[in-house]
Order: sequence, then C-alpha cells, then structure tokens
Amino acid sequence: MSLDPHKYRQDFPILSEKVYGKSLVYFDNAATTQTPTQVTDVLVEYYNKYNSNIHRGVHYLSNKSTEGAENARLKVQKFINAAHSHEVIFTAGTTESINLVANSFGECYVSEGDEVIVSEMEHHSNIVPWQMLCQRKKATLKVLPFNDKGELMTEKLEDLITDRTKILAVNHISNSLGTINPIKEIIDFAHSKNVPVLIDAAQSVQHKKIDVQALDADFLVFSGHKLYGPTGVGVLYGKEKYLNEMPPWQGGGEMIKEVTFEKTTYNELPFKFEAGTPNYIDTIGLGAAIDYVEAIGLDEIDAYEQELLAYATAKFESIPNLRIYGTAKNKTSVISFLVEGIHFYDMGMLLDQMGIAVRTGTHCTEPVMQHFGIDGTVRASFAFYNTKEEIDALFAGIEKVCKMFAV
Ligand code: PLP
Repeated sequence: MSLDPHKYRQDFPILSEKVYGKSLVYFDNAATTQTPTQVTDVLVEYYNKYNSNIHRGVHYLSNKSTEGAENARLKVQKFINAAHSHEVIFTAGTTESINLVANSFGECYVSEGDEVIVSEMEHHSNIVPWQMLCQRKKATLKVLPFNDKGELMTEKLEDLITDRTKILAVNHISNSLGTINPIKEIIDFAHSKNVPVLIDAAQSVQHKKIDVQALDADFLVFSGHKLYGPTGVGVLYGKEKYLNEMPPWQGGGEMIKEVTFEKTTYNELPFKFEAGTPNYIDTIGLGAAIDYVEAIGLDEIDAYEQELLAYATAKFESIPNLRIYGTAKNKTSVISFLVEGIHFYDMGMLLDQMGIAVRTGTHCTEPVMQHFGIDGTVRASFAFYNTKEEIDALFAGIEKVCKMFAV
C-alpha cells in the first residue's frame, strides 16, 4: 500500500493556507520543504523551557540544551550511519559545509598545479567555493559533463582524474534536473585513483536512505531546511582521518583547548569545527525532523514520490510544446520544464496567481542552463505530502496559461 499523504498533511499547517483566496499548492520542495508541528513544537518548547547557551554552563538549562544538541548529533550519526558521532559537524547548511571543506581541506591538501573536479550539474554552492580555492591556490577546476538527458558521463572520469586530482565534489541528486547520480560507482572509481569524494546530499537525504560507510563517502553535506527541519542548520559529515588532519576553519569560542597570546591549541572533533555559539535550538529541531521522517520511513516516502513523479511526467508529456529538462533514467521528484513561447517567469507568475508555488529561473545551476542554451526553467518539485489532485491542479494551470498565450 502506498503512502497516504492525507495522513500527514495536518502536520503541516501551512499546507492549509490560502494564497490570493486559493488553496495553496506547494511545489517548491527542492528549494525548502515545509516544517511539521512535530518540529516547530520542539523549537518552541526549547525556547520556552530550556534555552541556554550550550557546552559552557553547569546549570540545569545549559545542561538540558547541551543534551538536546548532542542527542541531535547522535540522531544524525545514526541517520547517515556514520562510524563516530564526532564525524558529524553542525554548520549553517550545505553551503557552509562545502565552504568549510573547500577552505580547510583545500588549505591542507591542495597546492599550485593540483586539480579539483566538480560536475557540470552542480549547484553554485558546489562550484564557487572550489573555484575560489583554485584561484587562491593556482589549482585547476575540472568539470565532469552530463549528456542531454541529464546523466553524468562518468566514463570521462578515467581521463579527468590525474595524479594531481585532490578531490572530486559531486551531488547525489541534481536540484534542477532531478537526476540521481551513481555516487557509489563514482566514489569507488575515484578511490581506485586515491581521490577523496565530497557528496552534496542536499537533495537526497529527504528522499533516499544514506549510509556513509557503505558508500565510503569521504565527506557528505546537507541542509536541515530541505529535510523538513529548521532553516540555518546543516551537517558536514567527514571521515575522522581527514577531519583530524584538517585545520580549523573559523576561530572563536568552543573550538579551542587553550588560548594564550603566544599560541592557541584546538579542541577535539567535532568542536574544532564549531566556532562560536552554534545554532543549537535549530540543531535540536533537525533531530526532531529526522525522528519525523524516520517514523514515516524514507523507503515509503521515496516510493510514493516516485509515483507522483511518474503521474506528473505522463501528464506533462501530453502537453504540446512542453519540454522537460532532465530525463535521466534514475530521477527523483523534480520536473524542470519550459513551454515553447512562454517565458518561465510568466508561467511561474500566472501559476502563482492560481495559488501554485513553483520555482522559476536557473535554480542556482547556471552551467546546467548553459548546457541546454536556455536562461531558466519552471521547476515543480514534489514531497510526500503532495497529492495527485495537486498535480492535476498544476496540469490544469499550465493548460490555462498555454491558452492565454495561444500556445
Ligand atoms: N546543493 C544542492 C544540490 C542544492 O539543491 C542546494 C539548495 O538548493 C544547495 C546545495 C545549497 O543549500 P543551502 O542553500 O541550504 O546551503
């Protein structure tokens, strides 16, 4: 029996909101998922009952907050099956996690003449930090291309990886194409050439079970707000052997062992990478989001979202002049599209007037748009709380816009 979204929709009060007097249809889940009351209740509870700066106090409140945040770390460890909880670093999100690795790993391991590989379908967050590193270090950024279906041409890795390659950074799932990349195969190949791999899991932790040990990922990053959790919190998983070697990225409180004006010694993992007061209440909220998702079951979520994807794809394909960008064999519930003769902003704005929230533009993946020679797309991305009736509403909305433009 497939998952029943109606069982869960009441957990998300925003889904019952009206926009412009119309029922909200929320199809911008790849940008941010909505947050259930099971998570927001925990945030309110901590602010109202236990709030106090963590790790630094001996009093009851500080201990309660510390315990909550460290429990969240254990939940993340279990969620991604990390070998050690100190391999889980809390950050502000995917972007900060990648910047941390690009700066700290880059400082340690990348020198003039070295190479870093990213793919052509990365989010800007997994391009620009590496580009900045390469500029700083006079290293070269190389790009693994994708084909016109939006599938990575992994066979090109053979030529791309050289003995100067220091790291390969690739997403598990593309936010603009929906492609599910064969990351195990990529990691195994890179490792056969002694190249560590960073996996951008911003678009996958909410759809797929992740096991960093089975994958043998060296780094894996994701954001809370795409996993039904709070904004402003995310995770960097790193193998202990790298995290121990890497220098701290930011200096401040908590990341130190001892400070004198002559010298500072650094704290142990994970605190070495968590300078300053962390976003501990949202971290606790992230733990609650993981509990929520696990109670439903990621396999059930994934199977139902695949159903939505198949349903929507078949409907979209029946619309004349509509082209879907990203037709990989393995896809998640993201559909990027354009209707010939209708600008993506017009489509997005007119759908918005009907209460339907889709994303328009480049989705922070300008190289993907450059690949197809377009300026942007309309993107509908589905979560487990979406329904086939909502997809019918989107379909009817697109048909209405097509009529307005006489397309
Ligand atoms: N990587 C991918 C694949 C994404 O989809 C996103 C956000 O859309 C990011 C990175 C950046 O995530 P954040 O803005 O939460 O740091």
